Amino acid sequence: MILLDGKKTSEAIQQEIAAEVAQIKENGGKVPHLAAILVGNDGGSVTYVTNKVLACEKVGFGSTLIRYEDDVTEEELLNKIQELNESEEVDGFIVQLPLPKHIDSQKVLEAIDPKKDVDGFHPVNVGRMVAGLSTFLPATPAGILQLLERYEIPTDGKNCVVIGRSNIVGSPMSILMAKAAYPGNATVTLCHRNTINLPHFTQQADIIISAVGRPGLITADMVKEGAVVIDVGTTRVSDATRKAGYRLRGDVDFDSVAPKCSYITPVPGGVGPLTIAMLLKNTLKAAKREVYA
Ligand code: NAD
Repeated sequence: MILLDGKKTSEAIQQEIAAEVAQIKENGGKVPHLAAILVGNDGGSVTYVTNKVLACEKVGFGSTLIRYEDDVTEEELLNKIQELNESEEVDGFIVQLPLPKHIDSQKVLEAIDPKKDVDGFHPVNVGRMVAGLSTFLPATPAGILQLLERYEIPTDGKNCVVIGRSNIVGSPMSILMAKAAYPGNATVTLCHRNTINLPHFTQQADIIISAVGRPGLITADMVKEGAVVIDVGTTRVSDATRKAGYRLRGDVDFDSVAPKCSYITPVPGGVGPLTIAMLLKNTLKAAKREVYA
């Protein structure tokens, strides 16, 4: 069994990005700049955004964090997005989700200029991904592709079961794994909460990618010998022995499943660290005007 080390892979990607930024600076080019909009004070969101901004500093990007209280109006937010769309300095930006209920998240996402949509959530970029055009891939599925590629895991003709159909992970993952590409060329089954007899599908899978958010969903009896298991799930479960009072658990019952696998991601330290690295990669692509040439 080989542990897929997301931390190490993420660091390698960030070093590659940093080297490219140093080269850009040396040539007197424009330093990539990421802006992030954060609404409210939700603990998880604050941590995610702070980590994204810190990662920008580490690779030499410029960054701007724009914060609003929970009571910000939709109009204020849309005005700021317009300003960022027109900014010469900002190459790409993100709006951290979830947004408060009085704000229409879809309207906000659609207001972002697709050329600066480094999260890849704008319908134009989603459509470009489905059509196989150059685009900003959503960070988590793109990170999983990187893991598969850098560990040279064969995917061609394999049975791949993706569990979860969200717009940010499961759905794009299923589309990307079915593409005529490497990683890809897999026969993909997309399972979700309405799937009847989930084990029937997972037991036939060479590759399982679980993006649900239910600790212990995937047990050893559901996994075939030699399978590749990618665990996207990150659920906070209370743990009094930890300083934070909680720890992260994946969807996979790691201790019983790992011995059966050829490769498996740990939680934490698997898929998570790659998400930030891929956001940086998208920002670099935006700065280099690579997607919409
Ligand atoms: P979501 O809540 O939007 O979607 C969950 C999906 O799971 C749904 O499509 C639902 O149909 C499916 N589902 C629910 N119960 C199921 C069951 N019993 N059997 C089969 N399918 C079931 O979630 P999301 O935003 O895609 O996130 C999924 C998980 O991945 C969460 O734990 C989240 O925290 C984590 N996540 C991690 C990263 C990362 O960087 N590591 C990034 C995004 C999400």
